[in-house]
Amino acid sequence: MKPLVYIISAPSGSGKSTLVNELRKLVPGLDFSVSYTTRRPRGSEQNGREYFFVPVEDFERMIGAGEFLEHACVFGNYYGTAKRFLQDAEKHGHDLLLDIDVQGAAQIKRQLPEAVSVFILPPDKQTLEWRLRHRSQDSQEVIHKRLVAAAKEIENYPEYDYILINDRLEQSIDELKAIVLSERLRRSQARLSPAETEIVATAERCLLPNIRGRLQPILASFAVSVTSTRG
Ligand code: ADP
Ligand code: 5GP
Repeated sequence: MKPLVYIISAPSGSGKSTLVNELRKLVPGLDFSVSYTTRRPRGSEQNGREYFFVPVEDFERMIGAGEFLEHACVFGNYYGTAKRFLQDAEKHGHDLLLDIDVQGAAQIKRQLPEAVSVFILPPDKQTLEWRLRHRSQDSQEVIHKRLVAAAKEIENYPEYDYILINDRLEQSIDELKAIVLSERLRRSQARLSPAETEIVATAERCLLPNIRGRLQPILASFAVSVTSTRG
């Protein structure tokens, strides 16, 4: 069976890594695609764990050889998803999780329209700024750049299937897990137990049309207009 592909995108500092790390502990049979990038490792990052860190020449050779499912330039560096992760997931009967930006998400959706996409939003701009500061990874200048970039990325939310507002961490973990499991349940077409019905209901609350009513104040805090987007 073809793997279910889950795309997760978010502005930096929204809590994507935190949520994805928890999800990977909770859901079996879900492979994580380790991207290639030309940026330098940060902090405790290890080659082959967070990313494969490669020189620009190697990345461009991989583009030429058609080794990427998608690739994009983000903040001045190349990032790409190798096709082999999808092939390996299929070989093992696993699903695949992609942590990629909005450009990569659009490329994947064109190639694999059935891929499930999730956009993670912070509760508002002030909270995002607070989280970026408390993560203590970036200078004030970088934080400012991330906040400006966040508003641009958030404009793309209408392209996603699910929106997860990462306010209370435990609830967000439950919601992300529910999204992954409910898509598996939908595909299996099995009769749902009461517990499974509850999982599907939790996931459905995050579907874009169902969460739209909660988005307005978040978008306003980033000065993203609801009417300027397809939302
Ligand atoms: P991203 O991967 O999106 O850049 P991180 O996962 O590094 O973001 O999270 C940014 C910071 O916010 C981290 O310090 C993390 O511990 C914290 N954080 C993540 N989710 C929450 C949450 N729901 N409530 C409070 N703090 C959070
Ligand atoms: P960071 O350098 O902070 O880890 O990631 C910067 C951005 O690049 C994030 O939005 C992240 O989702 C995105 N990204 C990471 N890997 C890939 C990838 O393989 N393809 C694309 N298109 N974006 C990626």
